[in-house]
Amino acid sequence: MLRVAVVGSGPSGVYAAQSLVLQREVPGVRVDVLDRLPAPYGLVRYGVAPDHEKIKSLTGNLRSVLEDERIRFLGDVEVGGAALSTARLLELYDAVVYCVGAARDRTLDIPGEDLAGVHSATAFVSWYSGHPDAAPFDLTGVRSAVVVGAGNVAVDVTRILARGVPELEPTDMPQPALGVLAASGVREVSMVARRGPSQGRFTTKELRELGTLPGVGVTVDRSEAALDPAYADPDAAAALPAVARRNLEVLRGWARAGADGSASGSARRIALRFHLRPVEVLGGPDGRVRAVRFERTAPDGRGGVVGTGVHEDVEAQLVLRSVGYLGVPLPGLPFDAARGTVPHAAGRVLRAGRVSVGEYVAGWIKRGPTGVIGTNRPCAKETVSSLLQDAGALAARHGPAGDPLDALRAAGLRPVEWPGWLAIEAAEERLGRSLGRRSVKIPDWAGLRGAAGRG
Ligand code: NAP
Repeated sequence: MLRVAVVGSGPSGVYAAQSLVLQREVPGVRVDVLDRLPAPYGLVRYGVAPDHEKIKSLTGNLRSVLEDERIRFLGDVEVGGAALSTARLLELYDAVVYCVGAARDRTLDIPGEDLAGVHSATAFVSWYSGHPDAAPFDLTGVRSAVVVGAGNVAVDVTRILARGVPELEPTDMPQPALGVLAASGVREVSMVARRGPSQGRFTTKELRELGTLPGVGVTVDRSEAALDPAYADPDAAAALPAVARRNLEVLRGWARAGADGSASGSARRIALRFHLRPVEVLGGPDGRVRAVRFERTAPDGRGGVVGTGVHEDVEAQLVLRSVGYLGVPLPGLPFDAARGTVPHAAGRVLRAGRVSVGEYVAGWIKRGPTGVIGTNRPCAKETVSSLLQDAGALAARHGPAGDPLDALRAAGLRPVEWPGWLAIEAAEERLGRSLGRRSVKIPDWAGLRGAAGRG
C-alpha cells in the first residue's frame, strides 16, 4: 500500500487525491487530505464569490472525491506548525503532496498604503466568505471605494460592493457580513487598471455581469479607453486573443451607453477606469484614507505603460488592492520568494536544485496564482504522474508503518473527519433556516469546531 498525504483540500488538493485513486498503475493507494481548516474545499469555499452559485456548485464534484472510501479528509490539522512538522509528515507517509495555494496578497508598495481604510481584496473576500481568520470590515462612512487592479478578483469585490442586499441574501454569506453590506452607503466603486481595456485580466462573463446588477450603472471613460490602440481601432484588435476582443466589445457598449446618458440615474455606479497607476494613498486629518492619487499612463508600444507626469486624485473612503495573490513559505519546505512558489521539477519538490524524495507540489504553490479552477486538474495530474513514476522508491523509503491518524492524535492533534464536516454543513443549514435564509456559513473557529463536535 502507498500512503499519501495531500496537504490542502482546495481544488488542486482534491484533484491530486482524485488522480491518485483513479489511476491503475499503482494499486492500493490510500490518501489522507489534510487541511488547516475544519472545512474542506479551500478557495471554492473561501474565495469563490458567494453570488457565483454555478462555480460554487463545483463543491458537488469535490465532495464526491472526498467521499471515496480510499480518501480520508482530516481537517483542523496544521502542517508546518509546532505539532506537525513537514519532516514528521514525511515520516508518517510514503509521499506528501503540498497543495497549499497562495495565501497572501501582493502589495502596491506606495506611500499611504497602511492608512486605515486600505485593505487587500483577499482580506475583503475572506471576510464575506466567512473565513475564520478574517478580520471584520466596517463600511461606516464609506460612500466611494477604489478597487486597484483589473483581474477577476477585482471584478468580484467590485460587484459585491455594488450589489444590493436582495441579491446577497439568498447566498451563504455570513450574517454579520450581510448586515454590514446591507447598511453600507457605498454609491460609487471605481475599478482602476494601470493599463488599457484590451489588457484587463478579467474574463468576459465576469466583466459582463457588472452590467446586469439591478440598480447599478457602469461607466467607461471613452478618452481613457481610447488611449489603448486596440480599443480605438478594431483592426488593431483583430490580433488579440478572443477574450480580449470580447472584453473590448462589452466595454465599447458601456462607453456608448454612458455617452447617451443611459448609465445615469442609477442608485449605485461602477466606474471602470483605465491607464491610471496608483502612486500614493492620501489620508485625511482622521488618519483614514480620503483619496488615491493616480498617475495617468500611456502605452509604451510593447504592451506596457509609461507615466505621463499627470496626476488625478480619486476620492475613496475604502481602498481594496486587488493586484494578485502570493504564495507564502511553509516552514520546512524550500521557497522561491521572488515567484512565491516552491521550486519543483514536474511537481517534484527541489531542495537546493535536487529532488527531495517523497515531496511534491500542485496548484498555485507550484505554478503561481493563475488560471481558473479547472487549470488545477492537469496541474495535479502532472504531479501525480511524477509521484507514480517514483512509487517503487517511495514504497522502499521506510517499512510498513501504522495508521498515520494514530500518530497525529498522539501528537495532540484532533482532526475533524468527514462526519465532523457533515455536522458543520448541517449546522450551517440550521443556522440559515433560523435566519429565514438558505445555508449560512459559520465564520469563526469556535463555531466550526463546536459544530463538528469538537467543542
Ligand atoms: P490577476 O488576474 O493576476 O490580476 C491582477 C491585476 O492586478 C492585473 O490587472 C494587474 O495589472 C494588476 N496589478 C498588478 N500589480 C499592480 C500594481 N502594482 N498596480 C496596479 N495594478 C497592478 O489576479 P487576481 O484578480 O487576483 O486573480 C487570480 C487568479 O484567480 C486569476 O487566474 C483569476 O482569473 C482567478 N479568478 C477567477 C475567478 C473566476 O473565474 N470567476 C474569480 C476570481 C479569481 P497588469 O496586467 O498591468 O499587471
